[in-house]
Amino acid sequence: MRAAGAAEVWRQTLSVSYDEVVRLIRVYAAVIAENKEYLTQLDSAIGDADHGINMDRGMQAALAKLDGPPGDIGELFKTVGMTLVSTVGGAGGPLYGTLFLRLGTATAGRAVLEPDDWAGALAAAVDGVQARGKAELQDKTMVDALAPARDAFEQAVAEGASFAEGLRRSASAAEEGMKGTIPLVAKKGRASYLGERSAGHQDPGATSSWLLLKTVADTWSGED
Ligand code: ADP
Ligand code: MG
Repeated sequence: MRAAGAAEVWRQTLSVSYDEVVRLIRVYAAVIAENKEYLTQLDSAIGDADHGINMDRGMQAALAKLDGPPGDIGELFKTVGMTLVSTVGGAGGPLYGTLFLRLGTATAGRAVLEPDDWAGALAAAVDGVQARGKAELQDKTMVDALAPARDAFEQAVAEGASFAEGLRRSASAAEEGMKGTIPLVAKKGRASYLGERSAGHQDPGATSSWLLLKTVADTWSGED
């Protein structure tokens, strides 16, 4: 093994600052805008063809609220959550609103996030989504991407992996969970109205949730 160079040490992200959380929201809004048609197309197969449009409307509204007083990461997440609740509509609005509101409650008053903070926030957010939507694993919803992402991050932290490595594992677990929704029969949401016919399609909410965890990893892992 060779010694890590200065640049590599610098890349060992130990904590995430307020500005990096702002960047996450900006980049997620851009990622959702880029994937608007894709998410809507997924929703046209097993829903009502609005998921990309809904999420894009919500994230664009959230972007307009990012110029508040800097410092409190909890307030920032709460602002995003409240904006999504009031602008997204459908099932996704309250669920994504709850996700970000819970991230906000868990990080109230924090100016930086360390791995344990993110593990706790992600766990609180997933609990909130499940309390709100009553979906369990394998119901073919966003929970199928979120819960594995939470578990993978927790496990990485417990194993002493770096923050960046934990975020990458978390995003991979979300991707696997998202792909795992394809064969499932939906038990919750509009897709459940299709019964067996919902099988064979990837869940749109699991896809937007994977995009969120992927954006977290891409923006916070300390790599370009
Ligand atoms: P709507 O279904 O009202 O049109 P969206 O299209 O914005 O809302 O969002 C659909 C997504 O919401 C689904 O793909 C699924 O992932 C998620 N979803 C729907 N109902 C639930 C639920 N009860 N729990 C968790 N996620 C859900
Ligand atoms: Mg829909």
